[in-house]
Amino acid sequence: MYNIKQIREDFPILSREVYGKPLVYLDNGATTQKPRCVVEAIINEYYSVNANVHRGVHFLSQQATELHEASRETVRRFINARSTNEIIFTRGTTESINLLASSFAESQMQAGDEVIVSTMEHHSDIVPWQLQASKRGIVIKVIPMNDKGELLQDAYKQLFSEKTKLVCVMHVSNVLGTVNPVKEMIVEAHAHGVPVLVDGAQSVPHMKVDVQDLDADFFAFSGHKVYGPTGVGVLYGKEEWLDKLPPYQGGGEMIQSVSFEKTTFNELPFKFEAGTPDYIGTTALAKALDYVTAIGMDQIAAHEHELTQYAMQRLKQIEGMRIFGEAEHKSSVISFLVGNIHHLDMGTLLDRLGIAVRTGHHCAQPLMQRLGIEGTVRASFGLYNTKEEIDILAAGIERVSRMF
Ligand code: PMP
Repeated sequence: MYNIKQIREDFPILSREVYGKPLVYLDNGATTQKPRCVVEAIINEYYSVNANVHRGVHFLSQQATELHEASRETVRRFINARSTNEIIFTRGTTESINLLASSFAESQMQAGDEVIVSTMEHHSDIVPWQLQASKRGIVIKVIPMNDKGELLQDAYKQLFSEKTKLVCVMHVSNVLGTVNPVKEMIVEAHAHGVPVLVDGAQSVPHMKVDVQDLDADFFAFSGHKVYGPTGVGVLYGKEEWLDKLPPYQGGGEMIQSVSFEKTTFNELPFKFEAGTPDYIGTTALAKALDYVTAIGMDQIAAHEHELTQYAMQRLKQIEGMRIFGEAEHKSSVISFLVGNIHHLDMGTLLDRLGIAVRTGHHCAQPLMQRLGIEGTVRASFGLYNTKEEIDILAAGIERVSRMF
């Protein structure tokens, strides 16, 4: 059913060597490799269609616009939004969250109002709110977690007050792999009349996401983490919310009419898309989403679940192994430390064996503080990884450990 050999052949980079060793790419949480069809979509559009979108009467411009808007429809279908008006193209998760934080805080929050985030958030879910906090005096409240890496739901419920205006929480942790119960958390927030922004950077590549089923008010993700190109991402927002929010940036595309006295803004989604969009990137993103859809998100999830179970079992046999993140619902991310070996030393030596892993704080320093560590080594799996690669990782860790 799951033809891993054929899948791997779709990704030319996987057959290269580093330091004379076959590449074992386990840094998918940072970015994923690209299948041939995504790269070809970029080349083909530049070679045969390229023209600026939405503006031209000429043939190429219309064709490029059609491709760009068809990509918006592909994204809509992929996350099951109601309308393409709810799909805003951005540069990625970070820009999506900054857009929302800026527009939401400007129009919906006053000094003393509160946003709830969690201990395990990525800096991109924290710092945009801190920027707003310093500008507008808003307050950030934090959901704590247990030692397994699960958010404490009772404590979460206690954080709501009449000042709470938004919850901003990640769907899947990029460090712990925890799959947060966002659907239940959204029910709770809505019971208080509070909307929720879900950071889906680490969920969209690994599981079927249905924004209507989640009832998320806002949802952000990046193209490059789901086998698409860099530089393009998505902010989903319920139309009734996006209608209420002011534009984020000003410029071309986002206006209806401009005079020096008064400017009126374009309709959704263009109100939030100032300037020339990355229309080549959106075509390639749509190709990536078609690619994973053809394999099947459920099949990908099952494959990665098996890999994660196998890796957890295998890595736990290693002497001195400490794994961070043992949530009951866990995605394909494993963070670890071995004995007293510094994460950077482990990462550097694994690299020499051809194994690409991430080291450091993973843009989650508050989480590191909660765990009482400076950083971890992180292996994160994608749809093309194999059990053989996990064996190579485990043998590599054992070899490095023996050196210390
Ligand atoms: N949120 C999470 C959970 C992430 O893992 C990342 C990427 N590491 C981001 C946000 C930021 O994504 P990007 O750099 O693509 O904007």
